[in-house]
Amino acid sequence: MNDTPKSLAQEDSQYVLHPASSITALLDQGPQMIVSAKGSTITDADGNELLDAVGGLWCVNAGYGRPELAQVVKEATEQLAYYHTFSNASNPWQVQLAKKLLQLAPSNLGKVYFGSGGSDANDTLVKIAWHYHSLRGKSTKTKVIAREQAYHGTSISTASLTGLGGFHKEYPLPLDFVLHTDCPHFYTRGLEGETEQQFCDRLIDNVAKLIEKEGADNIAAFFAEPIHAAGGIIEPPAGYYPKLKTLLKQHDILLVADEVVCGYGRLGTWFGSDQLDIEPDMLSTAKGLTSGYFPMSAAFITDEIFDVLKEGSAKIGAFSHGYTYSGHPVGCAVALANLNIIENEGLVERAKENGAYLHARLLEELGDHKNVGEIRGRGLLAGVQLVKDKVNKELPDPADKWPAKVTAMMRKNGVIVRPLPSVGTLAISPPLVITRDEIDRLVSEIKAAIDAEIA
Ligand code: PMP
Repeated sequence: MNDTPKSLAQEDSQYVLHPASSITALLDQGPQMIVSAKGSTITDADGNELLDAVGGLWCVNAGYGRPELAQVVKEATEQLAYYHTFSNASNPWQVQLAKKLLQLAPSNLGKVYFGSGGSDANDTLVKIAWHYHSLRGKSTKTKVIAREQAYHGTSISTASLTGLGGFHKEYPLPLDFVLHTDCPHFYTRGLEGETEQQFCDRLIDNVAKLIEKEGADNIAAFFAEPIHAAGGIIEPPAGYYPKLKTLLKQHDILLVADEVVCGYGRLGTWFGSDQLDIEPDMLSTAKGLTSGYFPMSAAFITDEIFDVLKEGSAKIGAFSHGYTYSGHPVGCAVALANLNIIENEGLVERAKENGAYLHARLLEELGDHKNVGEIRGRGLLAGVQLVKDKVNKELPDPADKWPAKVTAMMRKNGVIVRPLPSVGTLAISPPLVITRDEIDRLVSEIKAAIDAEIA
């Protein structure tokens, strides 16, 4: 018998261990077998068309089914399917891509390091931070601060940085080089009677106390998503990043912006750092770099950091860190073509305008809803905070599984949004090509599902 998507769906659980998935649910319900996609719509094995308002996993910025990207994969594969970049080997696409990226990235960043995904980009930056300090005679600077409810990946070091307990339990994590500080969410963490500015000062003060307690001589870097994505679509209060940067600079601690979700137009600017006044010393990206068409990451550092590595190289030899697929020629060619699409079609501007439309529509439909406490985010990144009690800001009980119930109902009605169970939030991060009609449909399906499942 020939394989079909449906017959293969039945066999899936016999052979596959899925990432971040429940084995019990797979055995109960089978996999969600997706067979094709175009624009913002994916199609499953039963022929159902679903509006993918998450863009895969926050990554398909240019939309699905782009023939121009397929063509680039074909041509680059035929010309140079692979060659490594170790021992100073190079290829034309990686140089062109690095040049292009440095034109787009925050201006203080001067060099790019390529890898295959967000976790490895963050791993790379932890190691560069260690290497940088060590070469400057500060080898005790090894601890790294990250925030509660942050998501930085699932490798051993980045799962440690991730501030979501689910990624630690049943593992001997977090590793002890990681220190967690406050999640900067005023809505859930502001104190009774505290203003947002007082909240901001309290958070910065807590970072200062943590540095004091651990000793600045022991701390290498601070990792921050401009807006927390998987941890709840959380933006810090105004003024947080400039204050944080000043504090870290005083203590010779590097600020790393994890722009794996926020990069490449998501927030309506090329990078979240541009909009939120971050001025990072290092910056990690992946996902939207290729819109998911090739597994690829780019990690940026300042020229100042590079100069220290350069001097170190003269003394100690090679920078001993690299991946088989660093600077992959096909990946770099796809990334270049993807960035050209984003640029030529004005998708960053479109994310800004349609993002404003999305937020306005969400507020219109759900702003006064008794089970919606806050609508947050920027551009085409949005979070809908579910609440049991709007006045007292009482969050849903995780055991009630509200986000999962709402998103399951929406899926039945043909729209995908992502449940963030630990914070009772629905996450929205569609392809940047989503249309206003699709946004209208998305918003009305969210409202209908909340009404059906909760209200
Ligand atoms: N950082 C952030 C902010 C992310 O959202 C993710 C993935 N969702 C990662 C890092 C890790 O990326 P990857 O899964 O490609 O390793």
